[in-house]
Amino acid sequence: MRAALLRWYDARHRKLPWRGISDPYRTWVSEIMLQQTRVAAVLGHYRSFLRRFPTVRDLAGARESSVLAAWSGLGYYRRARRLHLAARQIVRERGGVFPASAEEWRKLPGIGRYTAAAIASIAFAEPVAVVDGNVERILRRLFALHGAPPDGELWDLAASLLSHERPGDFNQAMMELGATVCLPGTPLCPQCPIARWCRTRGAGEAAPAGKRRRREIAYVLALRNGSVRLRQRPVTESLMPGMWELPAAARNGVRPAAVFRHSITTTDYRVRVIRAPSRSGQWVPLRRLSRLPLTGLTRKILRHFQIIQ
Ligand code: SF4
Repeated sequence: MRAALLRWYDARHRKLPWRGISDPYRTWVSEIMLQQTRVAAVLGHYRSFLRRFPTVRDLAGARESSVLAAWSGLGYYRRARRLHLAARQIVRERGGVFPASAEEWRKLPGIGRYTAAAIASIAFAEPVAVVDGNVERILRRLFALHGAPPDGELWDLAASLLSHERPGDFNQAMMELGATVCLPGTPLCPQCPIARWCRTRGAGEAAPAGKRRRREIAYVLALRNGSVRLRQRPVTESLMPGMWELPAAARNGVRPAAVFRHSITTTDYRVRVIRAPSRSGQWVPLRRLSRLPLTGLTRKILRHFQIIQ
């Protein structure tokens, strides 16, 4: 099965800029960007982020606001903050030398079990398996698992399959299979290189789903003489601290200029945007917006109204 999967990966994998490189910094940046974010969205940001911060020393030496501005549009900004903190730690405490094992990577901010294993296997060929949502789905179908498996079982199963000669490629092959063939809805089993070892050969039983919440929010869009009214979120906020957004509006029955749907972590928002004056926040010249860390939702709204590109 291992050989069949690797043959398929060698012949079919998508050519992505973070594949086939031997630079732990680039692998690390790509893995952090790819957390909870689609490949298509990461592609543009990955290149521009690396142009701006080509090495871990450049990232460590940058101001946090520049790092957040370069991250803008990718969402989940805590990732960018932790990436920045970890870069500083690597430079300060390790003289810029990257850890070579998953265990060492896990000691850095923002690096969980999955990310540590992905970086160590891809950049340092350490034989450690990964389990993310894609790999979990494949394992469930491959082994016809039911319900929630005991803690650690999925990791043990993934480790039992791993290629010790090519652990990084094997892990990427599993993720690639999940992203392109063993799809969440209907898997493309006739195209699957490991179908003959699979006990399900079909959608099988889905992983137990997390609960999503719904909320309504409203923002004011106030424009005057080439400036827009924005407020900075307090640095004590747990979500997107220090980032800039439109002021909140009271829900007073005013007809909205636009309505959006937006999802953040486990909440689905219905967002109303009202054109009205606001006293909250401050006037920010539109020409400064490209250098400001804006929340993803604010960026989406300003794009909709063609205030930014
Ligand atoms: Fe997934 Fe189908 Fe392949 Fe099984 S045979 S691993 S269900 S794509």
